[in-house]
Amino acid sequence: MMKSYEELLKRAQAKLPEEKGSGERFEIPRVRTFVLGRTRTIIRNFKEIANALNRNPQHLMKFFSNEMATAGNLEETRATFQGKFRNDTFEHLLKTYIDNFVICPVCKRPDTRVVKEKRFSFLKCEACGAKSSVKAI
Ligand SMILES: [Zn+2]
Repeated sequence: MMKSYEELLKRAQAKLPEEKGSGERFEIPRVRTFVLGRTRTIIRNFKEIANALNRNPQHLMKFFSNEMATAGNLEETRATFQGKFRNDTFEHLLKTYIDNFVICPVCKRPDTRVVKEKRFSFLKCEACGAKSSVKAI
């Protein structure tokens, strides 16, 4: 308890001069997709997107697969999904993902990370120190 309070204090003091992380500009790469054959859709820059969000690509992949009710496969920098999907489907899902798993509900900043405690996941905000519960995927 004491430690986290001290950390908070330090963070508060360091806030202005330091300004680390994405800060004011939160840039998400556009989703770049193409359809391969008749049955597969590929997001070329999947890894880049996950990195920009500071999230594990596997986590993002699981979210997409669940939401689209299809199987997905992660390969190096890109992701392949079974089925044909439009670009705006992905853009829309990505926005939902960001709202649920990236943006701090308290201060609305994206400087967060997911921490696991026992069976539960929390969104820990680096900017304001808030810890919020996140949905399990
Ligand atoms: Zn916050």
